[in-house]
Amino acid sequence: MFSIINPFDLTFLAEYEYITDNQAVQRIDTAHNSYNKWRCKSLNTRLELVKNLLNTLTNQQKSLSEKCSLEMGKPIAQAVAEVKKCGLLCEYYIKHAPGFLAEKPVNTDAAESFVVYEPLGVILGIMPWNFPYWQVFRFAIPAIIVGNTVVVKHASNVAGCAQLLESLFTDAGFPEGIYQNLLISGEQVKKVIENPIVKAVSLTGSEKAGISVATVAASQIKKSVLELGGSNAFIVLGDADLDKAASVAVSARMQNTGQSCIAAKRFLVHSSVYEDFLNRFRAGVEKLKPGNPLDTATDIGPLARLDLAKDVEKQVDRSVAMGAKVLTGGKRDKAFYAPTIVTDVTTDMPVFKEEVFGPVAAVIKFETFEEAVTLSNSTDFGLGVTLFTRNIDDIKDKLHLFEEGAVFINAMVKSDPALPFGGVKRSGYGRELAENGLKEFVNVKTVYIN
Ligand code: NAP
Repeated sequence: MFSIINPFDLTFLAEYEYITDNQAVQRIDTAHNSYNKWRCKSLNTRLELVKNLLNTLTNQQKSLSEKCSLEMGKPIAQAVAEVKKCGLLCEYYIKHAPGFLAEKPVNTDAAESFVVYEPLGVILGIMPWNFPYWQVFRFAIPAIIVGNTVVVKHASNVAGCAQLLESLFTDAGFPEGIYQNLLISGEQVKKVIENPIVKAVSLTGSEKAGISVATVAASQIKKSVLELGGSNAFIVLGDADLDKAASVAVSARMQNTGQSCIAAKRFLVHSSVYEDFLNRFRAGVEKLKPGNPLDTATDIGPLARLDLAKDVEKQVDRSVAMGAKVLTGGKRDKAFYAPTIVTDVTTDMPVFKEEVFGPVAAVIKFETFEEAVTLSNSTDFGLGVTLFTRNIDDIKDKLHLFEEGAVFINAMVKSDPALPFGGVKRSGYGRELAENGLKEFVNVKTVYIN
């Protein structure tokens, strides 16, 4: 048994019990039986059900977003936006999947040769709480469209959201076993990956979980996709539009109360604009309104769990002990951590070296572009980087210098159904979204006819 606690007021919400290993095996068997039928359906039939899902999602937007706000503290306006974004992903694949999955003729010495994309079987998704719907959609929808079936082990603190997700698929008319919630603990995951029926695994979560999951998958020669942590730099060059840079910086760091893998976490600012940028950034951060996640006026909710807020507090306090200065914020009240800017940061401090999963911006001044590149790359992670500059042509020649899955110029790093998403270095491997994401869990089959 485990309890879900509302991070806003630390009151009890609900109690859940993990299913047993045997029950998990039964669910996986069901997924396998469904797979044998699902893979034979036409792509059009599968996409018709995704269209139904889009309607169901829209009809259930209120209950979905409220559950998310209650369980993990996301401000309700952002929870609604997350549900809507799941709809955009469905629309994107309804439109583009037929083209992406079309048989691809290839000119060779054969009379005829071509490539087809076939499903693999039952795929396990292990998902985090920070975007409890979006993360699941971007894994599950492409996997299901290509003809796989999925079982999803969601984060324990959003067990209610996880249940709603399974109901969504049922309500949309998907046959039994195409999408199933697997209410298991992290310790039970190993056996699921080792089950011969399960063909691959996709994890979005921490580095620690990534190592554990990828190790088990590798021991079974099963593919894994890992979407892990990040510590994106946000670089403000001397010629940047400072008003725009500061306003985007606030969203890039504080959206979802700072609990986003692709959030800008380290702000590298050219010395010539340092004070001007910081004044604007600070003003924007101080305008944010903390409050009840269910209140539409709230910008900043609690962190998703009390222990996570305490972790963030420790990272800031340890950095302050090493010489960092708190420009604004720096205080915890239960699970709330105030939107914070920390200056005088050095590369050996926790707020620079570690991923800070909360509303804390670490700021460093730089003198030369080369120095900014070195600082940006001075992290184990490689999800993305933002650069603010007016000189687009110049920066386009320098994109290769950044060890990242994405470079965003004059915009915050964000996910978009049409763009591949994923990282390098210890941020993981594989891609979600776009054509790349649709083809992560397929058998790319070569056909040669003479
Ligand atoms: P987490 O502790 O790794 O949890 C993620 C999922 O993995 C949960 O379902 C969790 O289950 C499960 N899990 C934990 N330990 C496991 C293990 N040893 N074996 C198998 N499963 C395990 O991560 P989190 O704290 O929820 O999420 C925050 C992290 O996710 C951050 O590092 C963030 O950057 C990263 N993230 C990355 C992306 C991306 O796309 N790159 C997106 C969002 C978040 P329980 O809840 O039951 O422990």
